[in-house]
Amino acid sequence: MNTISDEEFERIYGRKPVRRVVRKKKIYWNRIIIALIIFAAVIFGIVQLIGIVVSKIKGDNTEKTNTTLKNTVSSQAVKDSSSEFEEVVAPKPPAYSDMDFTVCIDAGHGDFDGGTTDASGMRYEKDDNLKIALEVQKYLESFGVNVVMIREDDSFLELGERCEIANNSKADMFVSLHRNSYDGDISGVEVWVNNAEPQYDTKLAENILGKLDEVGISDDRGVQYGYVGNPYINYYVNVDTVMPSCLVELGFITEEIDNKLFDLHLTEYGEAIAEGIVQTAMDIGLVDESGKRLMSEELISPEKPVNRDDSSSSADNLTEPAVTDPSNDVYNTQENEWYG
Ligand SMILES: [Zn+2]
Repeated sequence: MNTISDEEFERIYGRKPVRRVVRKKKIYWNRIIIALIIFAAVIFGIVQLIGIVVSKIKGDNTEKTNTTLKNTVSSQAVKDSSSEFEEVVAPKPPAYSDMDFTVCIDAGHGDFDGGTTDASGMRYEKDDNLKIALEVQKYLESFGVNVVMIREDDSFLELGERCEIANNSKADMFVSLHRNSYDGDISGVEVWVNNAEPQYDTKLAENILGKLDEVGISDDRGVQYGYVGNPYINYYVNVDTVMPSCLVELGFITEEIDNKLFDLHLTEYGEAIAEGIVQTAMDIGLVDESGKRLMSEELISPEKPVNRDDSSSSADNLTEPAVTDPSNDVYNTQENEWYG
């Protein structure tokens, strides 16, 4: 296209050319910025939404996987539902195997004899005793130990019957499981042994308490001899059993901290007690490290004064004979009370 200069235009048309003012297009930066912000917000929102949907789907899958695993893997592997996936699929191997000896596990009380209760009166000692007894049984059996259970449900046996079962089964050790009570501010675990302070029984109590310590207890109240508040008498089961025996008071049911620990560490406590028992069997030469039995006869507690023939004669060892009279209900219901 030919263009002419302004001078030529004026010469030809007699006037100055009218120039169309080309206005510079105004750019509305503020509107663009707002639009960009809105766009970014929308994109961000979509990304967030996708993230939520994806994690929801993933979560569902993990939950399904965990449920399946819980049903297939032994419960000892599933210690904590929030534990890492790897922990669930790789159960801890048993600490021991092929242990060739027999243990009698006694869950204290049962049925109409509830033992002690917590402050609400809703939590019975007999139920906690059974729970921990079943855990101990599970671990002992996983270690290859032969286990004789005094009770595996909510049933009652007289103290004399319990000792008779243990003695007749030729068990090498006897462990009675209880929970303590006190009307006051006392917490922790203690293990009771015959006041003759027999060596094997003491070792058994020390090893169990030591393993429980490793798990974590509110207070280690130590190995104690005799009967609570009276060192001159004994718990029935520590008198009429011929094998090394002890009575574990696994925390105070009257203390919230001990109940929390009991519920939280039920499995670990069961494992700890089982390990304490196996450790004792090795310490006193009942079995070797591989579990091979070294003693031909059942283990008896050499220094423990035992009433082998007539259980009622256990009163011989007592300053308060009525306390160990098996026909006396007071013994059962007040066995855990602290008189000191
Ligand atoms: Zn008890």
